[in-house]
Amino acid sequence: MKQITLTRPDDWHVHFRDGDALGEIVPHHARRFGRAIVMPNLKPPVTSLNDAMAYRQRVVDAIPAGCDFTPLMTLYLTQKTSPEDIENAKQSGMIYGVKLYPAGATTNSDAGVTDIFALLPTLQAMTNVGLPLLIHAEVTDPAVDVFDREKSFLEQVVKPLLEKLPDLKVVLEHVTTADMANFVIDAGGHVGATVTPQHLLYNRSDIFRGGINPHLYCLPILKREQHRERLCEIVASGDPRFFLGTDSAPHSQHAKESACGCAGIFSAPCAIEVYAEIFESLGALEKLEGFASFHGADFYGLPRNESQITLINKPWTVPESFPMDNKNQLIPLKANETLHWQLV
Ligand SMILES: [Zn+2]
Repeated sequence: MKQITLTRPDDWHVHFRDGDALGEIVPHHARRFGRAIVMPNLKPPVTSLNDAMAYRQRVVDAIPAGCDFTPLMTLYLTQKTSPEDIENAKQSGMIYGVKLYPAGATTNSDAGVTDIFALLPTLQAMTNVGLPLLIHAEVTDPAVDVFDREKSFLEQVVKPLLEKLPDLKVVLEHVTTADMANFVIDAGGHVGATVTPQHLLYNRSDIFRGGINPHLYCLPILKREQHRERLCEIVASGDPRFFLGTDSAPHSQHAKESACGCAGIFSAPCAIEVYAEIFESLGALEKLEGFASFHGADFYGLPRNESQITLINKPWTVPESFPMDNKNQLIPLKANETLHWQLV
């Protein structure tokens, strides 16, 4: 039987949530990945080192016995984050990035940044200590079309910010447009990008195929086909600045299938399997290991994992739902669909 053995991959962008849900959500990642960059947009957000350490312990408590998995914690940037906070975070050795959510851009981002240019001393401190800024790159101006918010953010924020701080290490999270991806390629090695499975699999028409599909609604929203094609072309090229970040974002079935459904796609139960299918469909299966297991670790300056995972070519059906906690269900990416690669 055909199989692939990979250095254990890492997930450089994930949402675990909190409370009872951790016990259901963390194990999906822990079985597949060696490490994950854990997003800090809880309610309230993880803004201090103490909050992050307490959250880390709750995540660690949810890792099943025998899993070789390490959560990498992040801080949520606010208008009040100081250079001293950054230095303390770095010194702790436990914080791997600081997340910029423009206020109101996505789930639990109300406490986010309203004026990034007022935070230059904080960002300079990040540059000095080598802590990356992880950016949700969308403008929040309601006058800007939802499909254009990433491109506008590139022009209004990313380019001017990097002109002021050319050595700031930046990860453009869940890149969705050819514009942003091409910018990363031109920017030099200190700018990287995560790429989700959904932005490689689907375009914006898929949200409306046969009716409205709330489980394909995420932020940044799916884009035109030409953007999906460009992202596929780049990851298939093996460019080291692009790496795996699922942005797996669990919301209950009830919260997704509602009159005003939440943004976020829950891909954790089949993430590496889906990426394998994508790379295979692109004729680039030999580039999967770089994207999934090497590029992110190299960008963050961390050692590559030493253990391995194996995928076998054996069809399986992604379950229709998974428990979220004792009341709610999660509908995963590819629910009820057959995948050809299966985790051993
Ligand atoms: Zn996210």
